[in-house]
Amino acid sequence: MVSILGIPLDENSSFLKGPSKAPPLVMDAFRSKASNKFAENGIYCGERDRVSYIGEMQLSTGGAAMDSIRKTISKELDRGQKVVSIGGDHSITFPIIQAYSQSYPDLNILHIDAHPDLYDNFDNNLYSHASPFARIMENNLVNRLVQVGIRTLNTHQKSQAERFGVEIIEMIDFNPETVFTFDGPVYISIDMDGLDPAFAPGVSHFEPGGLSTRDIIRIIHQLKGNVIGSDIVEYNPDRDINNMTAMTAAKLMKEIIGKMVLL
Ligand code: MN
Ligand code: MN
Repeated sequence: MVSILGIPLDENSSFLKGPSKAPPLVMDAFRSKASNKFAENGIYCGERDRVSYIGEMQLSTGGAAMDSIRKTISKELDRGQKVVSIGGDHSITFPIIQAYSQSYPDLNILHIDAHPDLYDNFDNNLYSHASPFARIMENNLVNRLVQVGIRTLNTHQKSQAERFGVEIIEMIDFNPETVFTFDGPVYISIDMDGLDPAFAPGVSHFEPGGLSTRDIIRIIHQLKGNVIGSDIVEYNPDRDINNMTAMTAAKLMKEIIGKMVLL
């Protein structure tokens, strides 16, 4: 029912490398005996019949890596699985959504991030982790893109958001009680820097003034819609303290799986 997939790609990171090392550390945190495998909604999320870790991809580079991610996700969707991908940097979301949009023509995305990742061109890299949502929107892959936690909206990305009809809830306007409602399937993409660095120091781009862990858990719990996939990206172990960001990523993964299995 749920496949967890490690995607160790960070070549499209613009500032620091590191997220390619994330998948095994998030899995160690997920499996840690320091906690149990129940989501807060009472659903058991450990690796038994309903949840399985299908391992870490072996990736090449550039467009070939993107094709390989898209094909791997498609294969899982074709056998009826919902996929939770552990990145990797945010560039992996474009090929993932290319695959998802084939199976789910009415797809919506809930995107949690400090950054809108809507750059038309960043460092002349089509696949930059600053651009995946521009690629998704210019290819018309989704119905709605809703972004939460944004606190870096510049003039260019604001005009990109208007061009594509992106719904942005900036951090300055964020109300923790908001219930996000979607008609049809919802994909949740979580960039760990959407959290305040106090909660998640293991990221490449510190952007203070962000969401708390509880804010994101509440968003997941209260969300109205059918959650069919997710990614958790931009965890950078090189910057982490006592694996606390790995534990936070694993906690969010558990709550998302709990939501997926419940429906
Ligand atoms: Mn970000
Ligand atoms: Mn991002």
